[in-house]
Amino acid sequence: MVELLYLNDSYLKEFEAEVLEASDNWIVLDRTAFYPGGGGQPSDTGIIKFGGKEVKVVEMKRENVAHVIDGELPEIGEKIKGIIDWDRRYKIMRTHTAVHVISGVAFQNFGVKITGNQLYSGRARVDLSFENLTREIVSEIIEGSNEVIKKDLKVKAYYLTKEEFMNAPELMRVNPKLYEKYDKIRVVEIENFDAQADGGTHVRSLKEIGKIVLEKYESKGKRNKRIYVRVENE
Ligand SMILES: [Zn+2]
Repeated sequence: MVELLYLNDSYLKEFEAEVLEASDNWIVLDRTAFYPGGGGQPSDTGIIKFGGKEVKVVEMKRENVAHVIDGELPEIGEKIKGIIDWDRRYKIMRTHTAVHVISGVAFQNFGVKITGNQLYSGRARVDLSFENLTREIVSEIIEGSNEVIKKDLKVKAYYLTKEEFMNAPELMRVNPKLYEKYDKIRVVEIENFDAQADGGTHVRSLKEIGKIVLEKYESKGKRNKRIYVRVENE
């Protein structure tokens, strides 16, 4: 099992680790701060240093938490230093937390559900489902989200047992069956505002998001709408 360092510290930019597997163009480490992708959050990029060399991590393979390398691979057992592309990742974190704020406002104020999302560095695509969802309502959701950000609420992550989790239906935003294989479930909570099961990386407090801007609104039929948002510095 690879120790996933980002779960306890999403601000960790550098780490030391040992190579467990090396094959083709990828390596598996005993521990990593690189996010492997999933839940709409893209995998991290960065560099790995070993024996005076430096190679690029171009993406992660989610299935086995492998670092896909452009260049020479270190050997099994070798000690390496990993450094994630922090500019890119921090923007992804701001965007991820922003989408949770949008999801909270959309649901609490308008009963609108988010059915999917894809995060990019500083930008996100969000799919919403609601009867007669208009561009005006979407604008109000974004406005409401920016009001919530101004409150600068704290964001924290913690674990619940499967039993605790199954007794808290409000935390399940996607198919509950997806959680059956886990003994404990990680919850990301924006204090006193929104909590949901989540394995991604988030900022510590809402002010770090900056400001959410609605870029584009698309109708995908009567119930389904797609929006694109970006985060900007305040
Ligand atoms: Zn999330």
